[in-house]
Amino acid sequence: MTSERVCLFCLAPDAMSVKFDRRGKPFLRCFACGVRAFMPSFQSLNGVAILTPYAESVVEQMAQNRAVADEKRRLVAALVDGIRAKLVRSPAASAGSSSQQAPAPLAHGGTRA
Ligand SMILES: [Zn+2]
Repeated sequence: MTSERVCLFCLAPDAMSVKFDRRGKPFLRCFACGVRAFMPSFQSLNGVAILTPYAESVVEQMAQNRAVADEKRRLVAALVDGIRAKLVRSPAASAGSSSQQAPAPLAHGGTRA
């Protein structure tokens, strides 16, 4: 798990690795999307260890099968739409966030036309 694997956040292949902070606690770092996910203990790596091979399998399926890629893109779009709807309804969240950029869901995964 120390070598680069698919990012569990943006699904970019070979982009995420486990690093360690100054106190020796693990964190995930993706050079493609820039995420840094800090973990309070090594127990948080359980899901990473189990889900990373699954994420790699999904990315591979998306690259080989347009229907699978389209289905996954719809899942991402639905999630993003739901989050944006909450953002619009929440006055606290919308204050000072008017310049948000639209994300590029699955920019690194799936089929490329
Ligand atoms: Zn990423």
